[in-house]
Amino acid sequence: MTIREALVNGTRILNNEKIEAPAVDAGVILCHVLECDRSWLYAHGAENLDTGASEKYSLLLFKRCSGMPVQYITGKQEFMGLDFHVNRNVLIPRPETEILAETVIELGKKSTRTLKVLEIGTGSGCIAVSIAYYLRNSFIMAADISEKALEIARMNTLKHGVSGRIEYIRSNIFDKIVMSGFDIIVSNPPYAKHMEIPGLQREVRDFEPELALDGGEDGLGFYRPIIGKAPEFLKENGNLAFEVGIHQAKEVVRLMKSSFSAINIKKDLAGIERVVLGRLIGSF
Ligand code: GLN
Repeated sequence: MTIREALVNGTRILNNEKIEAPAVDAGVILCHVLECDRSWLYAHGAENLDTGASEKYSLLLFKRCSGMPVQYITGKQEFMGLDFHVNRNVLIPRPETEILAETVIELGKKSTRTLKVLEIGTGSGCIAVSIAYYLRNSFIMAADISEKALEIARMNTLKHGVSGRIEYIRSNIFDKIVMSGFDIIVSNPPYAKHMEIPGLQREVRDFEPELALDGGEDGLGFYRPIIGKAPEFLKENGNLAFEVGIHQAKEVVRLMKSSFSAINIKKDLAGIERVVLGRLIGSF
């Protein structure tokens, strides 16, 4: 079987299983097997696939047919122009989350001194690592309740050469955070409503960690404690920046109003209100 035939076959197999982007996924999986990029595939389409590669390709196509996201098959996802390791212990970084990372980076660029950032629920570390990478004057403390997620986050930190400026801590929200005086607290917490989880896309529901998805009864179960306690951990005029789910921005703004001012909402590329940012009123 040639590389071109393998792509056609793979696309057909995925299409029969109603996978959303069969040709893209077949290509990504074949590139992963052959450790090449897409342009190499097309330039070498007439070459034969050896048995080992062909068997591995079939096995991975089978995994994709079972609903496993392509990122867990290849073990990676790009975010903010950087490649991140991922596995089933962490949420796959989403393009809309880049808006949250960019918001923090923009804030940081205005500062001339070292910016102290606290991230709650770092998962793969995509937000913390991007901030450290693009804001050389930053120090980030990144918390997650999952030790297995922290392992991945540490790998990503090493991969991008920012280990000196990120400290990871296993903590349930603020429980183990002893440092205070942060300039910014950032979080993309779990925000799906508990009841909505069974109805989520199979790729998300069956493969991504429930710990990273379940935001409790109304999906806002993490926003309340974070908003409630953030003032104790922020310095005067410090900022709190959240990613929120669809239709959650207004309620999060309402919750923030007691302690935060200059509250802003940013939309994602689909026009959905995605990021909520506010500044602490006075000091704690
Ligand atoms: N901070 C990580 C991300 O944005 C994890 C978020 C989560 O697990 N809810 O991808």
